[in-house]
Amino acid sequence: MHNPYQDAVTQLELVAKRLESEYEDKKRFQTAISLLKTPETLHEGMLEITLDSGKKQSFKAFRSQHSNVRGPYKGGIRFHPGVTKEEVKALSLWMSWKTAAVNIPYGGAKGGVIVDPRKLSTTELEQLSRAYVRFLGTAIGPWIDVPAPDVNTTPQIMAWMADEYERMQQESNTAHLQNPLASFTGKPLGLGGSLGREEATGLGGVYILEELAKKLAWKRKQDITIAIQGFGNVGYWFAAHAVTAGYKVVAVSDSKTGIYDPNGLDPVAILASKRKTGQLTAASPLSNQELLELGVDVLVPAALENVITAENAAMIKATTIIEMANGPTTPEADEILAKRNVTVIPDILANAGGVSTSYFEWVQNLSGSYWSKQMVLEKLQPLMTTAFDAIWSLHLAEKTTVRLAAYQVAVRRVIDALFLRGRV
Ligand code: NAD
Repeated sequence: MHNPYQDAVTQLELVAKRLESEYEDKKRFQTAISLLKTPETLHEGMLEITLDSGKKQSFKAFRSQHSNVRGPYKGGIRFHPGVTKEEVKALSLWMSWKTAAVNIPYGGAKGGVIVDPRKLSTTELEQLSRAYVRFLGTAIGPWIDVPAPDVNTTPQIMAWMADEYERMQQESNTAHLQNPLASFTGKPLGLGGSLGREEATGLGGVYILEELAKKLAWKRKQDITIAIQGFGNVGYWFAAHAVTAGYKVVAVSDSKTGIYDPNGLDPVAILASKRKTGQLTAASPLSNQELLELGVDVLVPAALENVITAENAAMIKATTIIEMANGPTTPEADEILAKRNVTVIPDILANAGGVSTSYFEWVQNLSGSYWSKQMVLEKLQPLMTTAFDAIWSLHLAEKTTVRLAAYQVAVRRVIDALFLRGRV
């Protein structure tokens, strides 16, 4: 069984080897690296709710707060039966690198609850969401830790959580000190959410795709074929914006099945049909493994981690991988792909459009303002392309993978903040 936290530490050690020469005080540098291997705080507890049947049930919950040296902890909350402590810890490290890679003033955190939310009724889900906030208590807040949605957590869940946070503030007579809604991002539009947030992660990935097309001098966008694993929030919006931009999305999949059409798919129609029937429907279904190994130009993992492994990396035919999911490629697979000259745009850059727009939402909440969608997207695009350009230039200058270049930029920023604070 793969340990994602071990992968995250291995990645940090790899980048540390490259960064060390830049620091005169090697001992201080190594102290910073060993500090960054472990989350600053790991919250762990049981959430008890009353089921509709009247019975009580408990669920294991985590929040890993990795680093807040560059700003409040930031990261999503995942509701999934496969959540583990090691996964949550890994995801919190990746959040620190992600917020640093795109240079927004946040640290890194991640939360998770071991639960299959599809087995809960709406009232049970609401109880669980509110219990998660009570479990964290004063460990979260607009200037402390600002959670957001992740796999299986929705804007509605963020609304319940923000409301529970506000209730706690009222109980402690502190609700007037700040806008309690700024405690969570990814909220519904009717409750302090930001225009553009829903599609921001997928759209941010397409901004990166467009920049990559310029760098690699791709001639005709309509000839560039894309396969996307995962057709949830991220996968759908990536597909929809890629098609709007003129690329050919030939395959998409979800946890049950995949659809393939070499002539190109219409993501909007597929989503409408999925909403009607509750599933992806395909004349000749494609397995997830087949999707990963399709003869396409661009492969976009947009579901869960560890799907590109030492076992299948040699079989992948795409020449470019855009990691929209967090941690989809194991370090062993990464090495194989690098040797085969496959360009991998790492998760901490590719999917940073989500957290960047979360940042815009937080800024709006804290300043009491409300931006148009155009304003949001006008800020998102330069933020993503500036980050991409800096990382791409370093990748070329140092003849390294894009992942290592992104890590170098990000980890250096976190270490610099540690030094500036005098924490090491
Ligand atoms: P989601 O729950 O909306 O969608 C997940 C999709 O993956 C669904 O279509 C599901 O059917 C599919 N899936 C699940 N297991 C699968 C499997 N074994 N094989 C193939 N498909 C499978 O989640 P999301 O918000 O789209 O997140 C997807 C990924 O993107 C996660 O790794 C998440 O951490 C990452 N991410 C999300 C955001 C965001 O803003 N939502 C931001 C950054 C990163």
